Amino acid sequence: MMKKVQVKKGDQVMVISGKDKGKKGKVLVVMPKQGKIIVEGINIATKHTKPRKQGDTGGILKQETPMYASKVMYLCSKCGKPARVGKRVLENGDKVRFCKKCNEEID
Ligand SMILES: [Zn+2]
Repeated sequence: MMKKVQVKKGDQVMVISGKDKGKKGKVLVVMPKQGKIIVEGINIATKHTKPRKQGDTGGILKQETPMYASKVMYLCSKCGKPARVGKRVLENGDKVRFCKKCNEEID
């Protein structure tokens, strides 16, 4: 079974495996069905573009590509460490995420 994506758009994450291991970035897109995310500056693919019109020299386009969410860990904005994310329910019924390292609420 696929693991649920724990991170949200806008979260800071750290890559924990693969060629970008140790890099940090912000989550740009979450694709829950595929279990994938796109992270700013991570898993960059380089595309060579052809000149489209006269005088245009073409060039190299660098773009983030989707990667498995299991390859990253949430980077806590409170304690600054990679951490697992838990969920708790407040007295008023609201659900919030919290950092399992420092126990601070994230949302
Ligand atoms: Zn924390």
